[in-house]
Amino acid sequence: MAFRCANCGQEYDLTLVAWRCERCTGLLNMTTALNFDPAQVTDEASIWRFRHTFPLAPNVMPISLGEGNTPLVQVDLPTTPANETAHSVYLKCEYQNPTGSHLDRAMALLVSQAIQHGMQDFTVASTGNAAVSLSKYLLEANKSGTAHVPINASLDKLATVADSLDLNDTSGQLSSAYEAAEQQAAAGAYYASVAHQPLALAALATIAYELYTDLGDAPAAIVAPAGQGTLLLSLYLGFQALKSAGLTTRIPRLLGVQSDAVAPLWAVKNYGFQAFGLIEENATLASGLQVIAPARGDSVLSALHVSQGEIVTVTEFQIEGGRVMFADIGHPVEATSASIWTPMRAILQSDIDGPVVAILTGQAEG
Ligand SMILES: [Zn+2]
Repeated sequence: MAFRCANCGQEYDLTLVAWRCERCTGLLNMTTALNFDPAQVTDEASIWRFRHTFPLAPNVMPISLGEGNTPLVQVDLPTTPANETAHSVYLKCEYQNPTGSHLDRAMALLVSQAIQHGMQDFTVASTGNAAVSLSKYLLEANKSGTAHVPINASLDKLATVADSLDLNDTSGQLSSAYEAAEQQAAAGAYYASVAHQPLALAALATIAYELYTDLGDAPAAIVAPAGQGTLLLSLYLGFQALKSAGLTTRIPRLLGVQSDAVAPLWAVKNYGFQAFGLIEENATLASGLQVIAPARGDSVLSALHVSQGEIVTVTEFQIEGGRVMFADIGHPVEATSASIWTPMRAILQSDIDGPVVAILTGQAEG
């Protein structure tokens, strides 16, 4: 296993700390598929029990807050019509990770890797969750950095990052925050970008291994919010690894949810790449979905296609309604996660054959 530039083919070994190709600025991928071996899974109470699947050098010391092992909860949805009852719905409670989001899985690996290879300064662009997660792992490692935040950042969440991260309010949209983080990375900081660092894909794939372990098979379908789409791509790679190991015969149908306000994946899937120029960075309650140019967009769409999945969009009203409904059944999640409520209900009306998993990525603000 190593890393390779998708553009020029330049290869990088497992000591990689760059977030993009140093020769041509291209996107970096893993050179081989993930490899899952049930005999190598340990009994550690974190994602590190799947360490054998990670593209990490053997000398990397884990920095862990106990990420992963999140609850999978079967639910009876309220006011369920008769034709929905044939399906089981499971909620994967990623908001119960140490800092409240699925990003902890990725930050654990990124920070561990970066520190092993001598990085001192860290940078991230974030509306909330990524900065909170990075801050706690840096605190654990006694390191520091800067979080570049957009105008609509979650100030409630960011109130907790100050012990290890300086906040740079860009006063612009999320794209301004990305630009500021890239500048700091160019000056030598480690860019803790879950969307760009290929290691993050291997980290988030651990959700697939946990779902397989808990259900005894791959679920029939998975619904998740899709800003960058990294989570869905990672799930696809994880289930591919399980399938290659002969542990399951199916890849779950992957359903990604975007906001009507900013829906680049949906637009390109339905109208081709010429639609990309029409995407505007409009405001949405679901700040985690306010991504106009997903870094791995083509890979995400390809994974959804192979899984016979789909990208759907929801309105702001549906996002707010989802937040109320999830809270009502005991799962207080942020708006980004709540975006999946309506599509989750819709998939239960389809001819799906087997359990449906909804990924609750982040906890409620405040
Ligand atoms: Zn390159």
